[in-house]
Amino acid sequence: MAVIPIRTLPDPILRQKAKQVKVIGPSVKKLIKDMLETLHAVPGRAGIAAPQVGVSLRVIVIGAPEEDDLVLVNPEIVKTKGERIVQEGCLSIPGYVGEIKRAEKVTAKGKRPDGTEARIRAEGLLAEALEHEVDHLNGVLYIDRLESPDKLRKIQPEELQEDGEGTGEEDNGVTG
Ligand SMILES: [Zn+2]
Repeated sequence: MAVIPIRTLPDPILRQKAKQVKVIGPSVKKLIKDMLETLHAVPGRAGIAAPQVGVSLRVIVIGAPEEDDLVLVNPEIVKTKGERIVQEGCLSIPGYVGEIKRAEKVTAKGKRPDGTEARIRAEGLLAEALEHEVDHLNGVLYIDRLESPDKLRKIQPEELQEDGEGTGEEDNGVTG
């Protein structure tokens, strides 16, 4: 396993549409292990999409506190409900957070690493993380969802954790 450096803007891989995974074979399984290790390497990381570790494939991992990590291959958001304003950050855009709209609830589907179908109903941080990470697979970043440029701001030093990677606290939304 390996901790992989996170790609940041303006790396073009972040703007590519990632490819569907055809077979969850050894290379995809290794990718998932590396993504999970990278996710847990620094506190405050909510999730990672494969393009952020340099692989343009449709794989996401999300860390759910007090629950097992969620791994989805070829994930799709199939339903959203409601709307709320959140403050969101991204590991690929260090030092900034932005205010955007996300759904209150989402239903996502995809494959688990063992190949079985998963259908996830989520709200709160998990819903936000699912939308954020699936956006990454489509080359979309949260900054694309800002209603105006003044909704983006620099993180103040007192908000930074020791690692400087963003907050990860509920009030400050997802950093993934
Ligand atoms: Zn992100």
